[in-house]
Amino acid sequence: MASTETISEALGVLRRVFGYESFRGEQEAIVEHVVGGGDALVLMPTGGGKSLCYQIPALVREGTGVVVSPLIALMQDQVDALLALGVRAGFLNSSQDFGQRREVERAFLAGELDLLYLAPERLRVETTLNLLDRGRISLFAIDEAHCVSQWGHDFRPDYLGLSDLHERWPSVPRIALTATATRATREEIATRLNLEQARHFVASFDRPNIQYRIAPKNNPGKQLLELLRTEHAGESGIVYCLSRNSVEKTAESLVQNGIPALPYHAGLDSRTRAANQARFLREDGLVMVATIAFGMGIDKPDVRFVAHLDLPKSVEGYYQETGRAGRDGLPSTAWLAYGLQDVVQQRKLIDNSEGDAAHRRLLGRHLDAMLALCETVECRRVQLLNYFGERAEACGNCDTCLAPPESWDGTVAAQKLLSTVYRLRAERGQKFGTGQIVDILLGKRTPKVTQFGHDSLTVFGVGTELSDGEWRGVVRQLLAQGLLAVEGDYGTLVLTEGSGEVLGRRRDVRLRREPKREPRAAKVSK
Ligand code: ADP
Ligand code: ZN
Repeated sequence: MASTETISEALGVLRRVFGYESFRGEQEAIVEHVVGGGDALVLMPTGGGKSLCYQIPALVREGTGVVVSPLIALMQDQVDALLALGVRAGFLNSSQDFGQRREVERAFLAGELDLLYLAPERLRVETTLNLLDRGRISLFAIDEAHCVSQWGHDFRPDYLGLSDLHERWPSVPRIALTATATRATREEIATRLNLEQARHFVASFDRPNIQYRIAPKNNPGKQLLELLRTEHAGESGIVYCLSRNSVEKTAESLVQNGIPALPYHAGLDSRTRAANQARFLREDGLVMVATIAFGMGIDKPDVRFVAHLDLPKSVEGYYQETGRAGRDGLPSTAWLAYGLQDVVQQRKLIDNSEGDAAHRRLLGRHLDAMLALCETVECRRVQLLNYFGERAEACGNCDTCLAPPESWDGTVAAQKLLSTVYRLRAERGQKFGTGQIVDILLGKRTPKVTQFGHDSLTVFGVGTELSDGEWRGVVRQLLAQGLLAVEGDYGTLVLTEGSGEVLGRRRDVRLRREPKREPRAAKVSK
């Protein structure tokens, strides 16, 4: 098919079936390429409009588009939405009984399906492959393609089997799509899915309508309530917590404070999870308090805020989670509360994680990138986009742009703190955390300070120029910069190679001064 014909036919489908006037961004080029039989790897942020990139080619090309998706829980919804538009769609997954499966298979073989959604594990079963052999396939779409990445945060072993599609159906075009990929992940996807020859379409990852804010955590429950009451009263949003327990507690506390909220985590039975998810999608003004088990594939346009009460493990995860806000393009907030305890906890999780040393180092690098984002004095968006290999200008719509944090020369403060850690190190068998170190610096004669005779150390009381909270900030930032480390279950502070450079005056330390007040959603960006 000539390319002008392709475009006008695709545009016709876009208008007639989906009711949209024009393509967005790269959609047109992608559709043209895939309709023409080419393979594609598509990177687009959440809400960018990935679905149309394979749905329209599936409608234009002869045969059935086979969509591989890990989101079994959402297949029914996706198919229902397509049926409502008059698109002939069906799915095959483990939730169906024999009769339902038979009917879908019949429709596929009779050429009555435009789109067929499959869970990846189906493609490992010979009967499914035989079924596909007997029908006519217009394309393979591999959704959430980052699930093939073994080091990624959503790895699904069944995705590895998808590399064989090309051998079995060499003439069928394949399009892989994901909303999350650094350059390294992208290359991994291309290799593992046999897509080295595919054309890569990389959309900008910028989400200008989302205001990014990272606040020092002091009383997270109260901070969250304040955010919801002053800026997002009556609006839908997602609150992410690390543990099931904190999900339950946070949801309860919101409800007690008159904010309708539901919990979601892997410990709830699947019925409750499905019911809560359905309510969140359907009702207005509900807050979903969830672990990261919630959210992949959720298409709710008016999520007005995504709040993180705990530090995410990686920038990729963080960006994907916050990207669920503001799919409708209207101003939305991504808010994260982050404190010293988060750093201690995440390091501990990494130390105790399964896998070899290389894997732990990788997790450590992910965490370091996340910490660098938290501690930056630059525009958050610039930092985020740089992480994904994109250049950008300061955005004017993030907390550091709206209230630029001052930085200060923290070399002397760091030296005082590190030498206190050094002194305590000598006390064999005794381990001390941040609290004790800060009490010594502030010259506080607490029972624990006098018990160990720490009031006779030369560093006792040398740090009264900073408050307790400011010292904790110094500890947090030194941890983030790798100039200090934590060890063991009680968060014992220990020196690093970098600490030695600071103590030996071979290295200066710049620290970020926390803004006195948190900037609000003052500015609306277009
Ligand atoms: P993604 O899968 O990339 O997260 P979706 O495919 O769910 O994004 O699209 C996000 C939203 O944008 C959906 O509501 C979709 O209908 C809408 N959309 C996609 N393409 C267009 C377009 N060309 N014009 C208008 N709306 C669009
Ligand atoms: Zn900015």
